[in-house]
Amino acid sequence: SHPVHGRIDGPVVMIGFGSIGMGTLPLIERHFEYDAARLTVIDPDPDIANFLARHRIRHLHLGLTRENYREVLAGLFPEGEGGFCVNLSVDVSSLDLIRWCRQRGVLYIDTVVEPWAGFYFETTDNAARTNYALRQAVRDEKARNPGGPTAISCCGANPGMVSWLCKEALLVLARDLGRPADPPATREGWAALMRDLGVKGLHIAERDTQARHRPRPRGTFVNTWSVEGFIAEGLQPSELGWGSFEPWFPENGHRHDSGCRAAIWLERPGAITRVHTWCPSWGPQYGFLVTHNEAISIADYYTIPGPGGDLVNPAFRPTCHYAYHPCDDAILSLHEMFGQGRKQERHEILEADEITEGGDELGVLLFGHARNALWYGSRLSNAEARRLAPWQNATGLQVSSAVVAGMVWALENPEAGIVEADEMDHARCLAIQRPYLGPVEAHYTDWTPLSNRWELFPEDIDESEPWAFRNVLAT
Ligand code: NAD
Repeated sequence: SHPVHGRIDGPVVMIGFGSIGMGTLPLIERHFEYDAARLTVIDPDPDIANFLARHRIRHLHLGLTRENYREVLAGLFPEGEGGFCVNLSVDVSSLDLIRWCRQRGVLYIDTVVEPWAGFYFETTDNAARTNYALRQAVRDEKARNPGGPTAISCCGANPGMVSWLCKEALLVLARDLGRPADPPATREGWAALMRDLGVKGLHIAERDTQARHRPRPRGTFVNTWSVEGFIAEGLQPSELGWGSFEPWFPENGHRHDSGCRAAIWLERPGAITRVHTWCPSWGPQYGFLVTHNEAISIADYYTIPGPGGDLVNPAFRPTCHYAYHPCDDAILSLHEMFGQGRKQERHEILEADEITEGGDELGVLLFGHARNALWYGSRLSNAEARRLAPWQNATGLQVSSAVVAGMVWALENPEAGIVEADEMDHARCLAIQRPYLGPVEAHYTDWTPLSNRWELFPEDIDESEPWAFRNVLAT
C-alpha cells in the first residue's frame, strides 16, 4: 500500500546504522525499487551485527576513515554503475564523500556536514570549529564544480525539512495576510517574498516531549537521537543567521571575514546558550541556540544583497536560528555534563517501544510580520510514529522521511550538482514526506520575546524592537 517513488540503479550503500540509519532502511525498502542483494550497511558498531544478520542485510563491519574510504567505496560502487550513497554516520567527512561520489557518478545524501573524527574536539580555534566553516567548504566545492551528479547536503528534519516548511509557511502567511502568492521560481523571488511579507526572522522552534517511565540513570546521557552528534554540535560555538533588522550586536559575537557572511558565532557553546522561543503545545519556552546548518543556509538563501552585491550590509536578511528544547532527559543530561565538565560514558537513545508519552513538535516560527508570529510545522507523537513506520521514534521519523524525500528528488534530478534543502522543490519533497509527519499545522501567536518574563529583576532589554536578538537571548 506504500507508493514506490523511484528506482535506484546500481548499489545502495548506507554509511552509519544508528538511530537514523535504522529508521531510514525500512522507508527505503518501502519506497524504492532496487536490488536488495546490492544494499550494504557500513558501520563499525558490533552491537548491530546481529540485527543486520537477522534481517539478511549485508554488513561491512568497519568504520570509514580518511585513509580507507576511497578503497572501501570503490569496492562497493563499480565504475559506471551509478548507485546511491546514503551517509547517516558520525565522524565521516561529508565533503570527501561528496567529492568521491560525484567523480564516480554516484548519487549522495547526508543530514549534516560531518567532518572526520577529531574535528569537534581537537580544533581549538572556535571560528574554525563552526558550522559556518564546515558549510562554506561545501559551498566552495559547489562553486568550483557546478552541476554534475546530485549530492544533497544536510537533508534531514533540521537541517532539511525545515527549509521546505519555511517556504510553505511563507505561502500560508501570504494567503492569510490577503496577499496570496504563487510559489516563486527563483531564490531571489523567495527572498523578496519574505521581505515583502515583513518577516524579520525565524526560529527553528522545536519541543521534544518524549519520555519513558524509568527516570534517567545518573551518569548516562539520554537523548532521542545521536548522543554523540548532539554533544558534538552542542559544544560547537552557538551560531545564528544575522538579520539586517537587528539593532544590537552581542558582546561575545563574531562575524566571518570571508564566505557568504550570513551568520555570526558567539564565544559560547550552543547547548548552554538559552533563547526565549515558542511552540504550540506549551507556548513560551526556553530553547538552546545550538548551531545548525539551516540557521546559516536559510539566512544565506533569503539574503538580498546591498548595493554592489554587498553581503556584509545586505538590503535584507532574516535572523535565523535553532531554538531547541530537547527531551527532558536530555536537558538533565546536559545539566550534568556541563556541571561536571566531562562527557558521560554511558549513552542511551530512547527507543520507540519504551517511550510512554510525548512526541516531537518541530517547525519554523516566522516573526516580525503583521500577524506577529506564525509557527508552522510537524506535531508528531511517538504513538503515531510507531503506527507509521518501524524502528524509530517520532524524532527519527521526521528525519528519515526527509532523507527519503531527498532521495526521491535526487533520482528525479540526478544532475543538479551539490544542493541544500533550500534549493530543492519544497512542494515535491513535502508531498513525499507528509504521510510521516503527523499533523502539519499553522499556529499564530501574539507572544513575543517581551511577553511572559519574570519581572522581579531588571533586565537589559530593548522594548522598541520586541524581536531583537537582545531580547531573545536569555541572560
Ligand atoms: P547514532 O549515534 O545513533 O549513529 C551513528 C552511527 O554511525 C553509529 O551506528 C556508529 O557506529 C556509526 N559510525 C561511527 N563512526 C563511523 C565510521 N567511521 N564509519 C561508519 N559508521 C560510523 O546517530 P544518529 O542519531 O543515527 O545520527 C546520524 C547522523 O545524522 C549524525 O551525524 C547526526 O548528527 C545526524 N542527524 C541529523 C538530523 C537532521 O535532522 N538533520 C537529525 C538527527 C541526526
